[in-house]
Amino acid sequence: MAESRFWVGSNGKGILVFDRHVQIVGIPHIFLWDLNSCEMESYIAEVARQQVTSIKEDKAISSAIDAYLVWYKQHGNKWLSEENQYQETRKMKESDENNQRLELVEKHAQYLSSRGLTNDGTRIASNGRLHRTPPCWRCKKHLDNSFDIECALCGWIICNCGACGCKKPRGHMTKLD
Ligand SMILES: [Zn+2]
Ligand SMILES: [Zn+2]
Repeated sequence: MAESRFWVGSNGKGILVFDRHVQIVGIPHIFLWDLNSCEMESYIAEVARQQVTSIKEDKAISSAIDAYLVWYKQHGNKWLSEENQYQETRKMKESDENNQRLELVEKHAQYLSSRGLTNDGTRIASNGRLHRTPPCWRCKKHLDNSFDIECALCGWIICNCGACGCKKPRGHMTKLD
């Protein structure tokens, strides 16, 4: 059982223990326990695959696993629950942001179509933060550009109300750049 659960390798600097039981599905990282620091560390899976080579000596393997199990007994569960919680929060935050972004894109589309304006889509603002701080011309609120989504046509950051710089009638609005 121990053989299939663990894998012991070296990255040239130290010995690392891979424990199948503490890996988290759906993230690009793997966790390796470092024998030197006695800490669990996250590695980009791809990098670890290239840089960590497996250790052959049985003695080194079993003493690394023994040391790891001492750590695991004391900290394993706590580490796992904290790490899982962290990943859950991160996922939720990510999908939250995605939803807000989609909502904003949708509002912008409605804004344009209700005015009969062309919709060229949106893009991530390249240099949005500095020069686009004036209040929205439409709702008068200061632009919350935390998402940095701009209208592909006029280049304005899209306001929470959906407005960009495209509007009718023309004339009294100037472009910022
Ligand atoms: Zn607005
Ligand atoms: Zn626009």
